Amino acid sequence: MKKVGLTGGIGSGKSTVARMLADAGFAVVDADQIAREIMEPGSPVLDEVAREFGADLIGPGGALNRGELARRAFASREQTARLNAITHPAIRAESERRFAAAAVAGEPAVVYDMPLLVDLGLDKDMDLTVVVDVDVEERVRRLVATRGLDEADARARIKQQLDDDTRKAAADVIIDNNGPKEALEPQVRELIETLKR
Ligand code: ADP
Repeated sequence: MKKVGLTGGIGSGKSTVARMLADAGFAVVDADQIAREIMEPGSPVLDEVAREFGADLIGPGGALNRGELARRAFASREQTARLNAITHPAIRAESERRFAAAAVAGEPAVVYDMPLLVDLGLDKDMDLTVVVDVDVEERVRRLVATRGLDEADARARIKQQLDDDTRKAAADVIIDNNGPKEALEPQVRELIETLKR
């Protein structure tokens, strides 16, 4: 089974490409979705987060106040590292479980949709690394227009991530999503052909 890492900066269209690959029948492991699932009410990861960042983060129904956690965890590099030390191993373990399940199911390939793939050096575990690339200014425009982020927030989030040149340097395949969505389709079709080979 081929492991295909799919990554890109926030707002690059990574999820859009992942959806196209899922529609084409590929198994997709979504790291953001796992990150949410490991902090569902009652989970051991959520307990640990509450111990480290404050029990008041958990509401009466057991749900996490994500906004407040983000405020506390992104207040400094040190706090961010503390949160990552709790969540990253759990995300990694669950991702590995899903890769193994895909292998057991006989999938020829599994796509790992992971924003921090290159940031965390996980691209080295992949057979193919695909980077979706869009210029920063266009990503800011799309994040403001479609996700309702304000411009300063969009820029702050982009700044927290790896820079585009370093990410692209790790790519085996670069998908250019600076153009309209229609321009993605032929590039994704070509990727699919590569994956079938
Ligand atoms: P990511 O997962 O990389 O953060 P998304 O796939 O969610 O990015 O895309 C960010 C936003 O930009 C979404 O609202 C998406 O529909 C939109 N988008 C993606 N590709 C294009 C494109 N080529 N032109 C315009 N908008 C796009």
